[in-house]
Amino acid sequence: MGQYEHVREGRHVRVAVIGSGFGGLGAAVRLRREGITDFVVLERAGSVGGAWRDNSYPGCACDVPSHLYSFSFAPNPDWPRTFSGQRHIRAYLEHIADTFGIRPHLRLDHEVRLMRWDNDALRWEIETGRGTLTADVIVSATGPLSDPKIPDIPGLDGFPGKVFHSARWDHGYDLRGKRVAVIGTGASAIQIVPAIQPEVARLTLFQRTPPWVMPRVDRAITGAERGLHRALPFTGSLRRGLLWSIRELQVQAFTKRPNELGLVEALARANMTKAVKDPALRAKLTPAYRIGCKRILLSNAYYPALARPNVDVVASGLAEVRGSTLVAADGTRAEADAIVFGTGFHVTDMPIAERVVGADGITLAEAWKDGMESLRGATAAGFPNWMTIIGPNTGLGNSSMILMIEAQLNYLADYLRQLDGLGGRGTGRERVALAPRPSAVQVWNQRVQRRMARTVWNTGGCTSWYLDANGRNTTVWPGTTTEFRRATRQVNLAEYEVIRAGSRTGPPGPRTASAKESVR
Ligand code: NAP
Repeated sequence: MGQYEHVREGRHVRVAVIGSGFGGLGAAVRLRREGITDFVVLERAGSVGGAWRDNSYPGCACDVPSHLYSFSFAPNPDWPRTFSGQRHIRAYLEHIADTFGIRPHLRLDHEVRLMRWDNDALRWEIETGRGTLTADVIVSATGPLSDPKIPDIPGLDGFPGKVFHSARWDHGYDLRGKRVAVIGTGASAIQIVPAIQPEVARLTLFQRTPPWVMPRVDRAITGAERGLHRALPFTGSLRRGLLWSIRELQVQAFTKRPNELGLVEALARANMTKAVKDPALRAKLTPAYRIGCKRILLSNAYYPALARPNVDVVASGLAEVRGSTLVAADGTRAEADAIVFGTGFHVTDMPIAERVVGADGITLAEAWKDGMESLRGATAAGFPNWMTIIGPNTGLGNSSMILMIEAQLNYLADYLRQLDGLGGRGTGRERVALAPRPSAVQVWNQRVQRRMARTVWNTGGCTSWYLDANGRNTTVWPGTTTEFRRATRQVNLAEYEVIRAGSRTGPPGPRTASAKESVR
């Protein structure tokens, strides 16, 4: 079987994984390690890598140290820098696909258009751009950073120049000598700005909210260090353990004691003062909210680039485009040949949710219209045998998402084990599926939101993509990675309804004591 194989029309698989970024490839590796080979990985693009394939903008790199931003089961002693660039992370994921035998399972260029739960057959019908299939279980690993968001700016359609999003970089377009407007000051934009500033004629940065930017302690990993990690693999594990422990301790300040972050603000302010001598520019760049409320950004090059003579910072959002003139909300105007949107992703309104139709005939987007809610970041009420990786409230503000993904893979493995034990692979009336009890989902989310109340993300005085349209934080995990790992080590069957073949999922069951008590 080759990597360009198509799904066989009407084929049934035990598990269909959607997406081949860290989450999807991690799920595929875990399935194989559990002895499950009857699965496919459906990927809409022509290669693996997810966000690390799509984000190829100049300067793209990770803010989490390399030895922590990798799978625990696939350490890489040869990371060349303490913080990896996009190219190396993408190559790592290609390597994972090869090393762990994932290629035969991959169905590239297979965009999933619809997933519909069949209440009678107890399985999912999946329509892709290249044929249909059915699956007992869906693992949706499409990730929160997969669909770029470009704000609805009046007049943008009439802009005569080039327009693209940071995650869809047009490498065929030459920015040299052009007047370029960069919209946004998130993690993507602050990497793009210093990377393109030296070559563009003029760079206008539209900053709606200034970010807090800390120094980036990035360096080449020496040949001696790499040799040591290769010869004595436990030294790589020690390094990872140290990086993890520091972040595990730091998170307490984010989740419980935001006032302690004042000291960190002083460091970030010093980082700015060192590079920006103009007090007027410094005033524009100084945030008016607690550090950590939005993601803390790391860069040594961002502030120096803003101080260069060919850069203008407009301290106001882009509000309108009139021909080649960009107009900010405060009325400031700038001429541009190209607009680069670093405006983020559809995180709390993921388009994939519109393509999942559950047991009650409604889409996940409809079920989540008042906000995303899941059980332990994985399963959703009304959507049997459907699980998501990096689901609601599994994001991190300060550590490696790979740790959270691996915790979710433990949950996935146990889910499949328990499902099998109950008859998930049976036929006829023996066949069963699992759906989380609405009461268990409610208890879990109440607990998450209770803990969220005092975190810096909710109290820090900012708006961010962590919050949904109702101002509710449905993205970040308000605790340590250890706590999440503990909460997802096993599936607690008391939190699930066992659905038997032929019986439709009933209305939400009564709130049972067992489900209530068992939520950890
Ligand atoms: P983002 O954090 O959502 O930032 C979007 C930016 O666009 C914000 O600054 C936002 O301003 C701004 N914006 C939106 N509409 C605007 C308008 N009309 N005018 C001016 N500005 C506007 O998106 P991102 O930078 O792509 O980052 C998303 C996430 O990807 C990160 O948080 C991180 O998790 C990940 N990431 C990581 C790295 C890394 O590790 N180094 C790099 C890139 C991305 P407001 O702040 O006012 O909303």
